[in-house]
Amino acid sequence: MRETITLKVKNKYSKQYKNGYPLITKEAIINGKELKEEGALIDLVDESNQFLGRGYYGNQNKGYGWVVSQREGEEMNVTFFTGRIQRALQKRLHLVKDQTTTAYRLFNGEGDGIGGFTIEYFAGYLVINWYSQGIYSFKDDIIAAIRVVLDFKGIYEKKRFNTEGSYVEDDDFVTGERAPSPLLIKENGVNFAVHLNDGAMVGIFLDQREVRKAIRDKYAKGKTVLNTFSYTGAFSVYAALGGATKTTSVDLANRSLPKTVEQFKVNDIDEKTQSILVEEVFHYFKYAKRKNLKFDMVIMDPPSFARSKKVTFRAAKDYTSLVSDAIAITEKNGMIVASTNCSTFGMDKFKGFIDQAFKENKQKYKIMEEFSLPEDFATIKEFKEGNYLKVLFVQLLS
Ligand code: SAH
Repeated sequence: MRETITLKVKNKYSKQYKNGYPLITKEAIINGKELKEEGALIDLVDESNQFLGRGYYGNQNKGYGWVVSQREGEEMNVTFFTGRIQRALQKRLHLVKDQTTTAYRLFNGEGDGIGGFTIEYFAGYLVINWYSQGIYSFKDDIIAAIRVVLDFKGIYEKKRFNTEGSYVEDDDFVTGERAPSPLLIKENGVNFAVHLNDGAMVGIFLDQREVRKAIRDKYAKGKTVLNTFSYTGAFSVYAALGGATKTTSVDLANRSLPKTVEQFKVNDIDEKTQSILVEEVFHYFKYAKRKNLKFDMVIMDPPSFARSKKVTFRAAKDYTSLVSDAIAITEKNGMIVASTNCSTFGMDKFKGFIDQAFKENKQKYKIMEEFSLPEDFATIKEFKEGNYLKVLFVQLLS
């Protein structure tokens, strides 16, 4: 039997939990010290012992765990998980039916009613991301629920809860049959090679699906495209398929080169017609500026935090300066695609960073389009931080 701990919420926070806020934050709780073993059930009550919600203890950088039900005495068992996963599947039936896209998120943590884990689908295989030891302790019941609701050939998992909150290196295979490596998936009709057992990342970030489509269908034709922080070159592949005259992909990681070649190849694009550089982005910006290189489109999708030998980049502090770098090498009337997955600021603040950069450079701009998370990355209005993705298509006016 799992232990149930009653946690008392400070008066000034009880309203947010009544309104459905799902994250059990440290500052909201009076007696957090009573928590011992992760995976314990939590009854959240206010200072006069009124029931506020049911949840579980699973330490994440964000807090003590998640409220998963407003129902007193709710059990977190196979029936419970089956219900939530079933509901998540129902929301995504249009994607399940869509033959041109075979990779999407099937379950998005708190956005689907249970914070702490996600499930992604890749052409018949599932990848579960576990964000705490606490939710991991429910693994058997969650997999049993998955078996009831979802069709799959095999399941992989990524455990993202070691002491630094990062990925635990491991054989990630869980059950069923092993996926080929590469496994070919489709997204908007574009091919993509993914590797499900090759570290924390599988080769594609599914949350950018709509942004990639916009680049291919509306913005790339006849354009020179610079893709910075390019990883496996997903934006470059879409740009090339959309008729870009040339793409240049820049990423610091050695692995990015063969992985980008692979993505071009599976789409029948000769990678020799493109440029793929393993290089520090900030260094490349300096080089391009010195050589007076200009691009019609500059894409920037940096991590929220990155430290290389020479530079530390923090999106919340340094995005303005990144946009300045981009402005310097963007053609007049060209497009800057500014993206961030940093959850510590919202869209308004992000627009502020862009605005500041253009002001400092005495340039005019127009925001042509904006994106946040696609539908399958379900979010709830009670937890705005969950909608972390912000992407702006910004035209540099002449
Ligand atoms: N835009 C990509 C995802 C980017 S992930 C996509 O759509 O798939 C972030 C990438 O930034 C990683 O591949 C990492 O190697 C790279 N990176 C981090 N710091 C960097 C730096 N200073 N210079 C170049 N690349 C960097």
